[in-house]
Amino acid sequence: MVRALCAACLETTIMLQQPEADGLRHVLNAGDGVELLRSLPSSLDRSHMLALLRLGDFADDAFVATALDGRITYMNRAAGRLLGIARSAMSESFLSDFIQELPRYPEPLEEPGKSSVLTWSSPGIRTDGIALSLEGASTLMIGLTGPCYLYIMRARRAETDEDSRQDQLAALVYRNTSEGMLVLDPKGIILDINPAFVSLRGQHESEVIGRHVRLLNSPCHDRDFYRAMWRSVIETGSWQGEHWGQHKNGELYPEWLSINTSYTEEGQVYRRIMIFSNIAEIKRAEAIIWKQANYDKLTDLPNRQMFYDRLEQSIKKSQRSGTKVGLMFLDLDRFKEINDTLGHAIGDELLKEAARRLSACVRQSDTVARLGGDEFTVLVDDITQKRDLDRLSKLILLKLSEPFQLGLETVFISTSIGITFYPDDGKQAEVLLNNADQAMYVAKSEGRNRSCYFDTSMQERAQTRMRLVNDLHLALAQNQFSLVFQPIVELATGKITKAETLLRWQHPVRGAIPPVEFIPLAEETGMIAAIGDWVFCEATRQAHIWRARYLPQMQLSVNISPVQFRHEGIDLGFWLSHLETMGMSGTGVTIEITEGILLDSNSGITEQLKAFRNAGIQVSLDDFGTGYSSLSYLRKFNIDYLKIDQSFVSNLGDAGPDLALCEAIILMAHKLGLKVVAEGIETSTQYELLCKAGCDYGQGFLFSKPLSARHFEALLEDGGDIRPGHGA
Ligand code: C2E
Ligand code: MG
Ligand code: MG
Repeated sequence: MVRALCAACLETTIMLQQPEADGLRHVLNAGDGVELLRSLPSSLDRSHMLALLRLGDFADDAFVATALDGRITYMNRAAGRLLGIARSAMSESFLSDFIQELPRYPEPLEEPGKSSVLTWSSPGIRTDGIALSLEGASTLMIGLTGPCYLYIMRARRAETDEDSRQDQLAALVYRNTSEGMLVLDPKGIILDINPAFVSLRGQHESEVIGRHVRLLNSPCHDRDFYRAMWRSVIETGSWQGEHWGQHKNGELYPEWLSINTSYTEEGQVYRRIMIFSNIAEIKRAEAIIWKQANYDKLTDLPNRQMFYDRLEQSIKKSQRSGTKVGLMFLDLDRFKEINDTLGHAIGDELLKEAARRLSACVRQSDTVARLGGDEFTVLVDDITQKRDLDRLSKLILLKLSEPFQLGLETVFISTSIGITFYPDDGKQAEVLLNNADQAMYVAKSEGRNRSCYFDTSMQERAQTRMRLVNDLHLALAQNQFSLVFQPIVELATGKITKAETLLRWQHPVRGAIPPVEFIPLAEETGMIAAIGDWVFCEATRQAHIWRARYLPQMQLSVNISPVQFRHEGIDLGFWLSHLETMGMSGTGVTIEITEGILLDSNSGITEQLKAFRNAGIQVSLDDFGTGYSSLSYLRKFNIDYLKIDQSFVSNLGDAGPDLALCEAIILMAHKLGLKVVAEGIETSTQYELLCKAGCDYGQGFLFSKPLSARHFEALLEDGGDIRPGHGA
């Protein structure tokens, strides 16, 4: 077609003796010189030659004619532009100076201009030194002055360069990519594979090329899978998704497979390209991340997140089946003490073993999860009656109370369990967990090592508690707190030398709220720090007044919560500067701490107690006998007073076991250089037995109930003597 056009143009040019410039340019650009040369008649006469040269003048392609020795005899304007040669310099130039790889002709040519049209491409160089990349065609013909070579050429178009660069790049990528690639013909026959494919599958070219692509089907997918995959490829040209690839050695691995199609200009399928990426590593990483997000590292149990997922699933299942879901919330009793005394490594081992025992108690279909710390949950589906969980909770209590052999240590613990049911007690996961948590707290408060079913009264109690927490926030600012003082009597003389400061909260609506109710709330919410500061300042202010007015050696004790020591600790600087401002010595105040805090290795208790001592403040160990009661702690922490807990005092009777205990405590304390205060003395028998046992001080309703400052002052004004029975 192009050739016909070229020939026609040449003929027209000859006929009209003038070119139709636009048409020619179009033909030449579209068909290029090769076509033109091919269209030349076998023998060119002079008119043909002239027409040809005229054509050249209008062509965008460069026309150059040379003598047989290569000297340029003719060039058109485009050639001058391309090669940078002035027409005047033409006859001194050899074309080989500009084109490095000129085509060679066998000489002499029998029928010049007839057939041997050579196409070529070659690097070139302009007269100004600029490098060229040329392509063209040439032929040997009889010119106006004898045989000559005619060259028609052009610089390779920019996009042609780009195309080839892209081709090279594509080939480079194909060869070197880490993704396996495979080229199929429209019928699915494998035409080519790249090196990455070979290493991915272990199959070599000879084993796959020429075979049908179904050779690569893996046993992990069924016919339907491949049918759907190829249907998508046929309909849309592409498919991508996860696929199990199989290595020649049989090993299966996950891969990401993309299939794309290349089409001919006519829209027929030309090739299909399959790309395989091994995603085993990604899958592994994903699995690790998923596991980290959903499982507890220490025990390998589902974590809180996973627990919630499972609970939601159970709720949905139960909606369909009409059965109940049971949720148990477990908290190991006194786990913190074990962690603090035996160390975290033993604590961790205990948790792991507890997790194993728990898992062994339940069915495969049930979920045991660790929410954090020593808190676990058990999720049980398909429950028809609440009683169904009785057996399981008993089994769990039993299994967890068996001794734990952890390294060289044998450890005993117990567990408190709260139980709730969907849908009876709540509809949402969050509510159910809350219920079970509340029930667990009730189990703890009822003496631990037991289970307790949730009921709505617990919810009411929880709400009351919430309201109390809110009110507690206002109590300090609104002066709802006050202090009362309970005399501590020197048993030998009956003299009041000390008093314990006790906090009172007068709630504007509910009236007096006992400290056992609000101190734990203040501890949980962190408000105890501010409240504790207030108690200390108020108590020392009072002590200062009474020391100045009545009794210079008067000592007031303040109770310090373990929570005050933890976190940032007590702001001792503030306390001491308060004492200094009043001009009072630290000896006027004693702090009462409980044994638990001495076990807490993280509280920085040693340093804090040392700082108190340095300031002259003495330390009492409150409620002695109810906690760990370790003698070594008494020595280590330089305690000044032991307060025998009222539970021992209340059972005192002649020759009873508690008398022996009290006597032993007093004896031991004295040996260690400590003074003893007996708490909760209510009867004269208790009083007499304690006096006989050599107890130093006594405190209790027998002497006096806790008194307001005004009433206490009246006692002091009376001379500070107290006769047993005063407070009764
Ligand atoms: P505690 O430090 O062991 O205080 C002694 C408790 O025993 C006081 O109860 C007191 O009223 C009571 N008590 C004294 N003598 C007798 C008696 O003969 N018989 C009976 N049955 N009880 C007697 P209260 O005031 O209710 O305080 C209870 C607990 O609250 C205190 O126990 C202490 O742990 C805590 N607490 C009180 N005030 C404060 C405070 O300002 N800060 C802190 N952190 N805790 C405080
Ligand atoms: Mg106390
Ligand atoms: Mg006490």
